[in-house]
Amino acid sequence: MNKKKLILIGVLAVFSLALGFFFRVFLRTVNNEKDAKESLMESTATTEMTAPADTISSVWNSDIIQDVTDTESIQNEDGASSADTSEIIAAESIISGNMQNQDPLEYVSTESSFYTYEQMMEDLDEMETDYPELMSVEICGRSLDARDIPEVIIGNRSSQRHIFIQASIHAREYINTLVAMEQIERLLVHHEDGIYNGVSYDHLLNEVCFHILPMSNPDGVAISQFGLEGIRDETLKETLNSCYVNDLNNGRTEKDRDSYWKTWKANARGVDLNRNFDAGWETYEGVSYPSSDHYKGTSPVSEPETQAIINAVHACNAILTMSYHSTGSVIYWDYGSSGEVYEQDAELAGLVSSVTGYECSSSVQSAQDAAGCSDYFVLKEDIPSVTVENGYSACPIGIEEFPSIWASNIELLPALAYNYSAL
Ligand SMILES: [Zn+2]
Repeated sequence: MNKKKLILIGVLAVFSLALGFFFRVFLRTVNNEKDAKESLMESTATTEMTAPADTISSVWNSDIIQDVTDTESIQNEDGASSADTSEIIAAESIISGNMQNQDPLEYVSTESSFYTYEQMMEDLDEMETDYPELMSVEICGRSLDARDIPEVIIGNRSSQRHIFIQASIHAREYINTLVAMEQIERLLVHHEDGIYNGVSYDHLLNEVCFHILPMSNPDGVAISQFGLEGIRDETLKETLNSCYVNDLNNGRTEKDRDSYWKTWKANARGVDLNRNFDAGWETYEGVSYPSSDHYKGTSPVSEPETQAIINAVHACNAILTMSYHSTGSVIYWDYGSSGEVYEQDAELAGLVSSVTGYECSSSVQSAQDAAGCSDYFVLKEDIPSVTVENGYSACPIGIEEFPSIWASNIELLPALAYNYSAL
């Protein structure tokens, strides 16, 4: 071996060592970045199961409806997300997270429609801490799987005009929890500078008192978001599992387990809570066994979540109730009432229609919709009530539809307060 070859080998050896070193440094940097993304993701995202691919920055001041990009609709048609996807998601979380941090008034994140019970409780806690004079959270009941059902009270408690609103009694319709939470946040954050028809929010909140259940069916929402993993109690898990097996064996579903849970509507023992109220309950047929939907339960008001709603409405002596559902962008009213409550209900439906832009639709002909929350309060307690169906697409609705839903609902609470105040 001559000298030249030796030098060449030496140079190559040094070069490959250097290359190896730089490669290791490069790898470490990439990994660090990945770790940073993941830890950020953990703090902002809600779950590993259906992580939010659909990020939209704050729609808080959504007088302007934001553009939605098609590329963000990766969300889990099949409930799975690849490693590549989760990195994209992590990167998006960082971007939108930073954007959100610039708005110190932001409590409720509208990054994803995948808004969990835990996140809701955390957000309510923060808002209650920051606005103790304006808002309080009470527990009006407890679900089968031992989740406290929060009732948010905003406004003047000694007012005679209490307005009751509940959302997500149907599990997979949990986009409406986000709507209710944004409404709560908006009333609080803008209580000084918010104005409706020339009247300040502060003034409106002195005239009325809102009682809002942002998530009436927390167990159901957990099932729709996490499948059986969302339920802690083993007996309930077994009941739920037999719901799936029965539906599959009876030809009621062809879905795989993941999509069966994802489109779940009932509570944690297969009772459709919006068919569990005592108004037309006896005549409503539905299905005769616990299932994802249309099972009315063993008796009227058999479920603790149904009781929680009724108790909350009674406790505040509500002058009207509104139930948020999805989907259809329509307002259901006219449950077969007559006389004064019919007139009052027509007035309420007309107001909600004019604010949201949704058409009104009579429920009177629809025996398939009996035993619901609004039916009950109108027919049995003479309390004007409407059912608002937000959105157009199938449930669970993705965040890409939130801006248009929010645009329809952004003024609804101030409008209700204004129209039902003594002003
Ligand atoms: Zn519904």
